Amino acid sequence: MPIIAAYTALVTGPVNPAVHWQSAMPTADAEFERSAQRMPSSSFERAIYVRDGWRCRYCGVRIIERSMRTRLHICLPDVARWGARNADKHAALAALSASLDHVVPHSRGGTNDEANLVTACNACQFGRGQWTLEEVGFFDPRDYLPTLDAWDGLTRLSRLPTTSNEFQ
Ligand SMILES: [Zn+2]
Repeated sequence: MPIIAAYTALVTGPVNPAVHWQSAMPTADAEFERSAQRMPSSSFERAIYVRDGWRCRYCGVRIIERSMRTRLHICLPDVARWGARNADKHAALAALSASLDHVVPHSRGGTNDEANLVTACNACQFGRGQWTLEEVGFFDPRDYLPTLDAWDGLTRLSRLPTTSNEFQ
């Protein structure tokens, strides 16, 4: 876990020339008007995860649905740790948390359309930040088919309690 935590902090932390190609985060392109709705509904979000096989479309790692992470924490608080500070979080649960990523960054004119959204792990989502695929040297994940198999983002745990009161 310390190795995973250090890796994630390195990728998602401040710009580091040894890790990132750039020396500073890009600024938003003023010429683009941001679409009004920042992110789509939770059901739309889940449909993207299902479409993408519950895997990060950039690095291929299996991701975990965030509400399942909460359920794990409630049932196993000492193992599946989760708190406000990074040091209080289970490193793998943090690194593998599912998120939607705008292929063309929202701040650079990307839309909230399904075609511009892919599943991403924490490191790929926050490590890329506002840079375009070209600027960071990523392949476009939409050029490749997703891996679809039995992995479900741990949604098989959806019958676990969602509050500590239910877990008695
Ligand atoms: Zn990834």
